[in-house]
Amino acid sequence: MILNLLKKDIVLGDGGTIFEMERRGYVSAGPFTPEVSIEHPEALKQLQTDFARAGAQVLQALTYYAHEEKLKDIGKKGVLAEINSVAVRIANEVAKQYGCVVAGNLANTWVYDPADLSSRKETRRQFDQQIMYQLPHGVDFFIAETIEYLGEAKIALEAIKATGKPAMITLGFKYQDRTLDGVLLEEAFRELEEFGADIVGTNCFRDPKRMLPLAARVRQTVSCFVAAQPVAYRCSEERPYFQIQQFHGHIAFPLELDPFVLTRFEMADYALKAKQMGINYIGGCCGTAPHHLRAMAEALGRTVPNSKYSPRLELHTIIGDKHHRKERDERILCEQRYNPAVCHFLLKKSQKGQ
Ligand SMILES: [Zn+2]
Repeated sequence: MILNLLKKDIVLGDGGTIFEMERRGYVSAGPFTPEVSIEHPEALKQLQTDFARAGAQVLQALTYYAHEEKLKDIGKKGVLAEINSVAVRIANEVAKQYGCVVAGNLANTWVYDPADLSSRKETRRQFDQQIMYQLPHGVDFFIAETIEYLGEAKIALEAIKATGKPAMITLGFKYQDRTLDGVLLEEAFRELEEFGADIVGTNCFRDPKRMLPLAARVRQTVSCFVAAQPVAYRCSEERPYFQIQQFHGHIAFPLELDPFVLTRFEMADYALKAKQMGINYIGGCCGTAPHHLRAMAEALGRTVPNSKYSPRLELHTIIGDKHHRKERDERILCEQRYNPAVCHFLLKKSQKGQ
């Protein structure tokens, strides 16, 4: 189903579920494990509903870090099966209502070590384990994400291919355009395509500005579908990924990222640029919230369920048009800040040619 959707049009992915759950109080920053699926399923279901209503066509089961290596840190190895199964079931409940596709999810294991051959077997075992608990509950395809070693990505790909389901593999790049095992981006994606990946691309770490140049290179390298899922946190050329941004003289990640959140317009602009670049699967990673997704969907010309509540600034009592404005303080009026010709809701309307 995902491949059919991609053949027809761009597919809009979902947002940063783990980070948004943390912001809402249901994931602990630190372990960043997804026990929310069994402890507060209603909270996870609400967020996935919010993503679907904002235009997400794919809902990834919240099984990021639902592997032994991370669950043992919080003393919850025993519920690995339950977390993986329930997360897929919740995604399916929402998907059914909104016509979305459900993706199983695998991520970096922190077990893989290119210098230690025995770690390959253990990495595969942990991927297989997650797949075994996710697959029976309704998975259209699998996404293996945020992987920095080509070696680990290939193990994830083999594990997914063994299920017969389509595989989307996205790698994370921090400073360099090489994987942590030293393979140049082009070579890495060429190999992943050759090994049978259906969708390849990049996710996490970088903001759209820093990720799109890499996405363009992926697009030029492979003939399969290409995905991009950047973070919605502002980075810079000197600090190209979100974990090293500084706020008040110290590292902002992961608790003080608020001042770095990109605006909905910046994320919308990213979606358009990605489309022009020929990216097939456009989504967001950490920091991407429902309001970003709706703006991305609308930038792509779509009307989504929550477009019903999209901005109608002309009705605002401070910055609205002359029929709705009640504000007496001249300094706050839209015209005082922008001048009437560029007052932002007017500008938006004129761009639409209304
Ligand atoms: Zn991320």
